[in-house]
Amino acid sequence: MPLTLGAQYYRPPFPTSEYWDDDFARMRDAGLNTVQLWLVWGWIESVPGAFNYDDYDRLVELAGKHELSVVLSTIAAVHPYWIHREVPGSEMVTNMGAKVISTNRREIHYGITPGGCIDNPGVAARMEEFLRTTAERYSGVPAVSGWDVWNELRWNVHADGLVCYCDHTLVGFRDWLKTKYGDLDALNRAWERRYGAWDEVLPGKRPGRVYTEMMAFEEFISERSVEHAKWRYRIVKGANPDKPVTVHGGKPSVLYGADSYWEGEPSTALHRGNDWGFAEEIDGVGTSSFPVWEEIDHTDFMGRIDFVRGAAEANGKALWLSELQGGRSADGFNPQRSVRAADQQRWLWSGFASGADTVLFWCWRDEIFGRESGGFGIVGADGRAEERVAALARAGGALVQYDPLFSAYRLPPAEVGVWFSPRTYFHSWCEDGNAGRPMRAIQGLARVLNRLSIPYTVIEEQHTDPLSQLKVLFMPRGIVVDEPAAAAVAAFVEAGGTLVVESEAGAFGENGIYRYPEQRFLAKHFGIEEVGRRELPADVVPVSLAANATDAGATTYFLPATQWATPYSDGTLCTLKAHGEGTVVALGLYSAEAYYAGQREANAAYVAGAGEYERFVRDLVAGGGVERAARILEATTGGPLAHVRIGYAGRTPMVYVITEAESRALTLEVSDVKLAAALQGGVIDLLTRRTFSMRDRQIVLPPSEWGVMILVPGSAA
Ligand SMILES: [Zn+2]
Repeated sequence: MPLTLGAQYYRPPFPTSEYWDDDFARMRDAGLNTVQLWLVWGWIESVPGAFNYDDYDRLVELAGKHELSVVLSTIAAVHPYWIHREVPGSEMVTNMGAKVISTNRREIHYGITPGGCIDNPGVAARMEEFLRTTAERYSGVPAVSGWDVWNELRWNVHADGLVCYCDHTLVGFRDWLKTKYGDLDALNRAWERRYGAWDEVLPGKRPGRVYTEMMAFEEFISERSVEHAKWRYRIVKGANPDKPVTVHGGKPSVLYGADSYWEGEPSTALHRGNDWGFAEEIDGVGTSSFPVWEEIDHTDFMGRIDFVRGAAEANGKALWLSELQGGRSADGFNPQRSVRAADQQRWLWSGFASGADTVLFWCWRDEIFGRESGGFGIVGADGRAEERVAALARAGGALVQYDPLFSAYRLPPAEVGVWFSPRTYFHSWCEDGNAGRPMRAIQGLARVLNRLSIPYTVIEEQHTDPLSQLKVLFMPRGIVVDEPAAAAVAAFVEAGGTLVVESEAGAFGENGIYRYPEQRFLAKHFGIEEVGRRELPADVVPVSLAANATDAGATTYFLPATQWATPYSDGTLCTLKAHGEGTVVALGLYSAEAYYAGQREANAAYVAGAGEYERFVRDLVAGGGVERAARILEATTGGPLAHVRIGYAGRTPMVYVITEAESRALTLEVSDVKLAAALQGGVIDLLTRRTFSMRDRQIVLPPSEWGVMILVPGSAA
């Protein structure tokens, strides 16, 4: 079966039934092979114990008629209106002790949210009944090709306060601590406390207080979401063992650092769980993406996919682009930009280039209720439906024509890693009410690596096995580092890896207590110590990549920096130390975050250092022994950036060249000897069947309609 290319269609009760048959025929004509339906608990079980699937049965039957596969998306977070009547006292409770009043969700016509607390056994039992009944009803239905059991990981939407502090959840929190620490004495040792009884152990309440119990409560809330996802998965998978069952976030976990206490709907960092935790058990992970709506440029869009890809790769699971913007977004009466076919094609192919096996658009038709009315439809009325449909038909045709290549496509393991520490996010949130600082640091590194087309993966602090494949690991703003993570990183360096850290790496443990420089993993494992926080001399700081302060031959970089500088005991701001077979590069600045701020917020001082930071990263990657298989030679006239992603279908190389904007000619230079040999006889672009030859390891590529080319050896297609 070809890769999945589909669109969300039904959010009950819309579109109404008179459209269904014709719409499915048009979807098929537009090159789509899959339709997604929202199975909303509040709608299906509108009367307790009475499940009504009439509309879904008809839709699944029509999909079969039009040879469309069906992905069923279970919306168990939209509860029936009767939930609190049938399960009294099941409301969530905020950190201020207020009982949460549920309402219709902004974008759901029927049913309430957040509804009952999932830690309430009565609510869980009702939800399980809905999930099981639904899973069993459609198990064995041939048209159903897969399940998405938790849409955007929503559980606290419209709680209008930080949740949950109900009695059931507090029991869960203390049970979680008991499992983690064993007994109260162990907790007291870990937290440096003197609790006499478990009921004295309180969750953190809000940012700006002591870190310890707030970080613990944030981690509990995040892990609770992971456990809830696995619980849903087991129920649905149990009845559908042969079909993929996935979950997807509104964004990758890495980007849930932006969720804030200070917003109208306060939440903790990573409150919707962790992709690495999901992928331990669940068949696939994914993300929604609305690049025009959210003003995500193409480089950041590629990073966004990479953040989820890291979790999928670490566990050998599927990667889904689960809601990709179909047409112009709608957000009340605020004007929004229409979606160009070329942009949409670049998103789509960037997903497949990154190893996704499923792309589902949001959505087919414009929405017709609430703030989203008049928005999102691929065939919606933003003036560009015709060009999008024509482009999709071509894309869908290519997926079918070259199915053996696309279906077999895999990315080779990356040799560069970027460290992701949820505990650093929890810590940062305690201070700022969001985890923007460490998040922007990761985004900064990802942006540099994508600008340079250097393949990389993301390493999560509790899933460190992929370290063994890496040559270079960047740990931007790695403030919280615990013993197991430190041991894994030290082993990586001893085996020959290059570790790059920033200011105050490992300055805190998961208990949120500050460590003096001599207590940190850098000192213990590598003998590297900071002397303390100093004022930044400027927004751009000269540093040398040197083995010692008197190394006259060292290269100097003028790096962007923010917050403070932490010099090392050897007098440098950037120290380089050999250890075992490897190297540690310690930079006493926060440059990744400053770089990202310069890129995204046009901070003039940081922009000045942006190129220098890219050069710094490039040199570290090269110094760590990583070679790029191919790269784009920058045109002397400048012009938009291009990205190269290289994977293999069996032994056949597939080179994706994706530009930031279409209509750009460029030159691809192939460095890798084996790749050059494979492409020596000329290449063909799978989207246009145009052929190009290689001379002196260079392939000159003319502009393309969408800014996307998929090059394979001429003999392979
Ligand atoms: Zn609760």
